[in-house]
Amino acid sequence: MTAEQRQNLQAFRNYVRKTLDPTYILSYMGPWLQDEVVQFIQAEKNNKGPMEAASLFLQYLLQLQTEGWFRAFLDALYSAGYCGLYEAIESWDFQKLEKLEEHRLLLQRLQPEFKTRINPTDILPELSECLIGRKGKVVFFANQIPVYEQQATVFSRYFERLGYSVAGVSGARADNVSMQDIIENKDIIILTPQILVNSLNDGTIPSLSVFTLMIFDECHNTSKHHPYNQIMFRYLDHKLGGSPGPLPQVIGLTASVGVGDAKTVEEAMLHICKLCAALDTSVIATVRDNVEELEQFVYKPQKFFRKVESRTTNTFKSIISQLMKETEGLAKNVSEELGKLFQIQNREFGTQRYEQWIVAVHKACMVFQMPDKEKESSICRALFLYTSHLRKYNDALIISEHAQMKDALHYLKAFFHDVKNAAFDETEQDLTRRFEEKLEELEEVSKDPSNENPKLRDLYLILQEEYHLKLETKTILFVKTRALVDALKKWIEENPALSFLKPGILTGRGRTNQATGMTLPAQKCALEAFRASGDNNILIATSVADEGIDIAQCNLVILYEYVGNVIKMIQTRGRGRARDSKCFLLTSNADVIEKEKVNMFKEKIMNESISMLQTWDEMKFEKTVQRIQLDEKFIRDSQRKPQPAPDKENKRLLCGKCKAFACYTADIRVVEKSHYTVLGNAFKERFVSKPHPKPKIYDSFEKKAKIFCAIQKCCHDWGIHVKYKTFEIPVIKIESFVVEDIASGVQRRHAKWKDFHFERIQFDPAEMPI
Ligand SMILES: [Zn+2]
Repeated sequence: MTAEQRQNLQAFRNYVRKTLDPTYILSYMGPWLQDEVVQFIQAEKNNKGPMEAASLFLQYLLQLQTEGWFRAFLDALYSAGYCGLYEAIESWDFQKLEKLEEHRLLLQRLQPEFKTRINPTDILPELSECLIGRKGKVVFFANQIPVYEQQATVFSRYFERLGYSVAGVSGARADNVSMQDIIENKDIIILTPQILVNSLNDGTIPSLSVFTLMIFDECHNTSKHHPYNQIMFRYLDHKLGGSPGPLPQVIGLTASVGVGDAKTVEEAMLHICKLCAALDTSVIATVRDNVEELEQFVYKPQKFFRKVESRTTNTFKSIISQLMKETEGLAKNVSEELGKLFQIQNREFGTQRYEQWIVAVHKACMVFQMPDKEKESSICRALFLYTSHLRKYNDALIISEHAQMKDALHYLKAFFHDVKNAAFDETEQDLTRRFEEKLEELEEVSKDPSNENPKLRDLYLILQEEYHLKLETKTILFVKTRALVDALKKWIEENPALSFLKPGILTGRGRTNQATGMTLPAQKCALEAFRASGDNNILIATSVADEGIDIAQCNLVILYEYVGNVIKMIQTRGRGRARDSKCFLLTSNADVIEKEKVNMFKEKIMNESISMLQTWDEMKFEKTVQRIQLDEKFIRDSQRKPQPAPDKENKRLLCGKCKAFACYTADIRVVEKSHYTVLGNAFKERFVSKPHPKPKIYDSFEKKAKIFCAIQKCCHDWGIHVKYKTFEIPVIKIESFVVEDIASGVQRRHAKWKDFHFERIQFDPAEMPI
């Protein structure tokens, strides 16, 4: 047997030479090779390179006479992480290795091409080289739908004329296509990553071995529980766990790898090594040889910091704060016990922190219990309303801080309009009356020109100046919230002195159950209208726009009270790629400017760290990466929680707002793994439905209506009503309910179904009435 292995190894020695750096496995071969032989091989690597070292190693290996050397060699390969080679030699099948080799060549070809800022489109020619005449399978991941759309179009256009088939699957159409079919029949597949995570989890795709190359766009996202990392967990479990089958090559694209919380170059290097380990990277390619050429293509915009003053007197704020104090007082009087929650000191109205606090109180009130159920219901409902109103007032204060008072007032008026048109019980009537008493005064204050927001004055001056210098200026204005986008658009449109501006907006798609947010076609329209010859010359955007969307060049980027981490900073700046572009940071908060300066420092240490890492020799880098991978896998495996046993006890679901009984857990059925419906006619009596503002088809459902608590004074949002196959069924969300233990009466809230461990029964059409 040994003789045959010896012969085979001799016959396939070229594959081994091409793939193996023997210095990685020498430490595992200790008992088999003498110390001087080990040193000899190491010297050969240093002098002549890994291939010559591999030849020498094989020469010594083939001379070994002791029984068991072959097994020891295989074990060494395996331990050092050469899983592909291990497998190939064990089965004497080198075809898979050849495939991997092709991709190794691709990366070598790609490197010198990185002359400009790397865009996914820049690698198309190299990709096609890699695919020519071979059956490779490439998967390209895009995080956000607009990026996905853009790349799907570019890839189709480029590759279909070359005879390759291209397909894209995003969340929007995932249910109408068979992933299996696409994987089998297409050469290039564009995916949003969650689709692949789902297909791997439900077994539609058994392993990543079906791909030969994976490309991650915005690869710095590969951390924590991001879908990118979940895909890479699979990859690394496969690699480190020695599963059969070759692994695809991995390429990640990013404008910035980031440094996390690092404060020193050493910490930054560790952070970057961790990202490399997550992506199984062995090379960080940056522009080094062609820096000058790069700088001709990419301009670093000039950066300006503008510290602006807030209003000195603010009558609007005092009136709203007074209303908030009153509302808090009312809430305090509802229940002695819960009143304690409102006795917090030093809270400040109109801040993010107040928002967090009021959300916490809101949740605490939902599980409040009393022996008298009637009373419990009315107390919970009242507190629900007080806390909801307090949140709206807090929102309004934030809007007035950054935009005009009348925008904030408009926001509140719209809210009270909705309140009046819904249940409108005594508590709401009382709160509305209190607001309306102040309305006239608020209107007056917000119309008073002396109350103009000084921040907007500064923004006005910058815009005036820049458009005066260059009329064809194109601006992107980043703001924090969706409400501010609307407010600033209105401000521009209503300001005659800014009539040279034609504003467009770009925001995220928002939560699917709410009427706010922009649809995908609307996003595309906005981008189209902003392009060079388009209708808009200023785009007001929330953070959605700062990743990857290829907005036509703009020469002015304004960050209005907007700050992010270093990755965001580099990408936001990347929007201003035109020559002579400028970037303004406008804020009244000294901390914001401080934070941005920290970001600039982080960018500096990030670049230094990458340069340092690039001086490491390949072996040191690869060893570091592998050590991190093994450590992280160990942590991951040891943290993997066993599924908690479901609690089979029947429980009651109560409305989260008024505590009215909704249903028993025994009546709940799971539809398509992650959706929950309730059986029985009794439940139908307990909710009312209204047509859905955004009817939409998702998964296998056709969303038709929203459902609400049927108690007249409550109307709490319970979920939706859908058409599923031939059935019309309600789909409820657990966050709208409180779960009550029947025996003990203990009440609990669950934000997500997956945190609620009850006995799940699958939906069965046979149980449905005909
Ligand atoms: Zn209710």
